[in-house]
Amino acid sequence: MAAPLYSRILLKLSGEALMGDGQYGVDREVVQRIAREIKDVSDTGVQIAIVIGGGNIFRGMAKAAEGMDRATADYMGMLATVMNALAVQDALEHLGLPTRVLSALHIEQVAEPYIRRRAIRHLEKGRVVIFGAGTGNPFFTTDTAASLRAVEINAELVLKGTKVDGVYTDDPVSHPEAMRYRELSYSQVLEQNLQVMDATAITLCRDNDMPIIVFSINKSGALMRVMLGEEEGTSVRREIA
Ligand code: UDP
Repeated sequence: MAAPLYSRILLKLSGEALMGDGQYGVDREVVQRIAREIKDVSDTGVQIAIVIGGGNIFRGMAKAAEGMDRATADYMGMLATVMNALAVQDALEHLGLPTRVLSALHIEQVAEPYIRRRAIRHLEKGRVVIFGAGTGNPFFTTDTAASLRAVEINAELVLKGTKVDGVYTDDPVSHPEAMRYRELSYSQVLEQNLQVMDATAITLCRDNDMPIIVFSINKSGALMRVMLGEEEGTSVRREIA
């Protein structure tokens, strides 16, 4: 079998990716399936760090719009990501994959505190590292946390697992004629306001030359195919001069 192209990656999973066809919460079967895909890649020797969203449980912005204090709502959102992190840790460990949850907020009874060098050490030992609680700051998103952690741990790639298999010219569900981009530059994403990650996250990747691949987390084997450099999803990187 071909060898993976990467030795250390950061996988961003949105909260929605964990809820399957449900309206909220965590679908155990979906989480188990994603865990198996992660294990397959980990078994090839790729070091894997994960950032998990919380949108399936709580979204700060939406609650702020309903009149809640934004910062308070965002802290609730960050706590939601810790719950998702524990769910994914549980599924990975059931498959025999040692996993550590590192939280940007201090909740020592359930997760280690985020310490950059410790995260790297875990990865070097072959443990999957899950970063919970986003950046630890309100007014940010877990997409930005994914970019930040990827840069901090010297990952070679950010993988954004979504429900759709890449970035399209239009919503592929309501517009079947929409086309998938194979490659985009950071500036194309920013200028055209394409739904890859929020602008803060994209800018951080651009400034640190961190490539992103958007792919479908629902498509069986897609994560492995990205690792092997096969044509999958949409890749976002700097312009080729
Ligand atoms: N959040 C935050 N700071 C962060 C990361 C997340 O305040 O660094 C909060 C924010 O309220 C956000 C919620 O946590 O709405 C859940 O994260 P996100 O919306 O990024 O999750 P996803 O859309 O990936 O499921």
